[in-house]
Amino acid sequence: MSSEKFLVLDVDETLLNIEPLFFLEKFKKNYKDYAGKLIFDKYYLSPRPGVGEFIREAKKHFKLIAFSVVSKEITIRKLKALNILDNFIKIYGKEDLQNGKKSLKKIADDLNVDINNITAIDDIPESFLEQEKIIKIKSWFIGDGREDDALMAVFKDLEPNIKVFS
Ligand SMILES: [Mg+2]
Repeated sequence: MSSEKFLVLDVDETLLNIEPLFFLEKFKKNYKDYAGKLIFDKYYLSPRPGVGEFIREAKKHFKLIAFSVVSKEITIRKLKALNILDNFIKIYGKEDLQNGKKSLKKIADDLNVDINNITAIDDIPESFLEQEKIIKIKSWFIGDGREDDALMAVFKDLEPNIKVFS
């Protein structure tokens, strides 16, 4: 078994936020102040502040995996639209849920790695079967702070793990 370390990242409201245009135009009129782009015809997709820096740093220590409760195909299109898809070694989606939940054990089995070498960050830890092992991050939505630094803050919390394991 490999001793490489893996970091599983939730997608929606952890790395990005996507909302229908009609919703933004009605309730978050300043949405164009947020970096982002139109996607799927009538949606606006915006990266969480700091996502690029976070991914660059995280990749120095972990192989990155994305896990969304949305379909794998849609997830790939969202990550591609933000030019961050190539950073992930594997993308999991709705099709991979186990009884409606994400699973670290499934990932460990698929990759043939020790589950203890897998860490995950999610704004909804309860979406995992192993919710007690998941690092919670505050959900981020368009309209929230453009100075949000929660991703890098979480990364600093991970550093003790990095040192222990490496
Ligand atoms: Mg989420």
